[in-house]
Amino acid sequence: MGSNVLYIEDNPDNMVLVKRALEARGYTLLEAVNGLSGVTMAETREIDLVLLDINLPDIDGYEVARRIRNSGKSRLTYMPIIAITANALKGDAEKALAAGCDVYMSKPINIRELWARVEAFVPSPNAPENSV
Ligand code: MN
Repeated sequence: MGSNVLYIEDNPDNMVLVKRALEARGYTLLEAVNGLSGVTMAETREIDLVLLDINLPDIDGYEVARRIRNSGKSRLTYMPIIAITANALKGDAEKALAAGCDVYMSKPINIRELWARVEAFVPSPNAPENSV
């Protein structure tokens, strides 16, 4: 089973934080710094899960989620998408789910929550049950 996570995020600090956290658990992080390149990478690379920022410099995360879901590829119809929202009080979370995301997390990113959310879909390569 693969363990490639695509993170679509324009904030370099969040990218570094998440990269370190997920690589510590054995995942491989692929990086996209805007929405359009994120959609392209989801369509063309071997991805097992998408982490999706909502506030992006080109198309927003809702549109990214809709394009991934509507790409016509069954692999992308069921790809886990975790939205990372900054404005929970403004309804980002509900809009993210309506756009096709599976779950959402709020910023600031909590590393333990991140691990738990990701592992719920894609087991960590470093988890004890996977080592012999
Ligand atoms: Mn952003």
